[in-house]
Amino acid sequence: MTTTAPAPIEVRCPADGRIVGTVANQTRDEVGAVAAKLREAQPAWEALGPEARGKHLRDWRDWLLDNERRLGELVQSETGKSWADASMETALGVDIISYLTKNGPEFLAPRKVSPHSPAGATKKMRVVYRPYPVVGLITPWNGPIGNPLLDVVGALLAGATVLTKPSEYTPLSWIEVVRGWREDIGAPPVLEVVTGAGETGAAVVDAVDMVMFTGSARTGKRIAARCGERLIPCSLELGGKDAMIVLADADLDRATSAAAWGGFLNAGQACISVERVYVEAPIYDEFVRKVTEKVAGIRVGMDAPGEFATEIGAIATEDQLQIIETHVEDAKAKGARITTGGKRRSSGQFFEPTVIADVNHSMDCMRHETFGPTLPIMKVANEDEAVRLANDSPYGLSASVFSSNPDRAQRVADQLQAGAVNMNNVLSNLFQLTLPMGGWKESGIGTRLGGANAVLKFCRPQAQISERVALKSEVYWFPIS
Ligand code: NAD
Repeated sequence: MTTTAPAPIEVRCPADGRIVGTVANQTRDEVGAVAAKLREAQPAWEALGPEARGKHLRDWRDWLLDNERRLGELVQSETGKSWADASMETALGVDIISYLTKNGPEFLAPRKVSPHSPAGATKKMRVVYRPYPVVGLITPWNGPIGNPLLDVVGALLAGATVLTKPSEYTPLSWIEVVRGWREDIGAPPVLEVVTGAGETGAAVVDAVDMVMFTGSARTGKRIAARCGERLIPCSLELGGKDAMIVLADADLDRATSAAAWGGFLNAGQACISVERVYVEAPIYDEFVRKVTEKVAGIRVGMDAPGEFATEIGAIATEDQLQIIETHVEDAKAKGARITTGGKRRSSGQFFEPTVIADVNHSMDCMRHETFGPTLPIMKVANEDEAVRLANDSPYGLSASVFSSNPDRAQRVADQLQAGAVNMNNVLSNLFQLTLPMGGWKESGIGTRLGGANAVLKFCRPQAQISERVALKSEVYWFPIS
């Protein structure tokens, strides 16, 4: 019986709909063959040691810098991002490589351990960190270069090989970055990319020793179930519904700028976007007025490379655009007030930056991830109500709080159920590689991204115990000759 190969996938530019590339929808057999080659290459890669692996990664970083503009253009072509958002992706990758190649060897160094009982007193004990041979890395469409780089660098530095599967909507720029690793810098064949949709992703899960997944909670649950059946570990970075709390004593200029940045970065298509705002009653009207003014000034469109003529670009998929529209219409139907924006543009997949005032928790925009350029704002009576509502969500990725009283801000932060809390930061969703970033609740499980975890999560610790001196006096139930 002959089986026909699955139809290739056309990649379109969301800004104007033109086809910008075509990739294969790879089969289970093809994925298995790529994983087998990686498995073969892994022992030599691990044997190189972290310093030598870091050298290849630094060559790759220099290549990223040399090709920054071309890669940014590629990202724009498949996402419709503004230049400001597209160019951030390579910059993020460069930072990650610099930080991890500098600190990774120390994170990975064997650790001496002391005994806990007399039985261990004569032994030398240490922990060494051995990588999973093949790591599967499955990523979404909102950061085609930045998302995979966040994890691929740590995995490669740890000595794992990596089988990547980018989103079917945005595979082109990542294919080019992997080609750069293999062909342009001539690094060992320890990084591969396969293309396709969910079925190809499922084949990756079945072919590897550990899965690192970034994407929706829905897909994350399916992957976790399959990893459970295979008894392999997975680390999941999932969706969010990040809350911002603005208390009556907040610096309004700062809080409204933070909301405009946090809510609209990457056109709201960021896992750590501000997705809902709770404002104490005395300053609610003023907050809405000020933030509306700022959001109305955000320029939309896919500008030319290097131009910085717009702040936010397109919505990556038509499905995502429909979710945004549905949330806005639902809020309007239930009595919310649109103070700016509120609709899609007549051409291209663009949605106007939108502020939705007077919302409540019966509305979709406060319950489900919108992942778009919308900022729903709800009036709350006091701090306790703000905390209760912020925690009333299945998600817990990050959150932010604004109060000119640091003790009050701290008190709120200590009660929030989220993996990260920013206090009074204009960059309301600041992310740092030295912090253990990651979600609570349905926003993720597994080890965190930052610090030593960025490399150690791709390793299995191995306890090594050796004899310091052979002592005949040791007491066992068998005789020592
Ligand atoms: P998605 O879950 O639909 O897809 C993500 C990836 O999983 C894609 O590559 C897809 O092809 C693949 N996939 C789909 N079904 C699969 C299956 N059964 N087995 C294996 N792989 C499968 O997510 P998306 O729509 O591409 O991305 C948006 C989501 O990603 C949002 O929820 C967003 O919050 C989340 N996200 C989270 C983070 C984070 O760090 N927490 C970062 C970025 C995006």
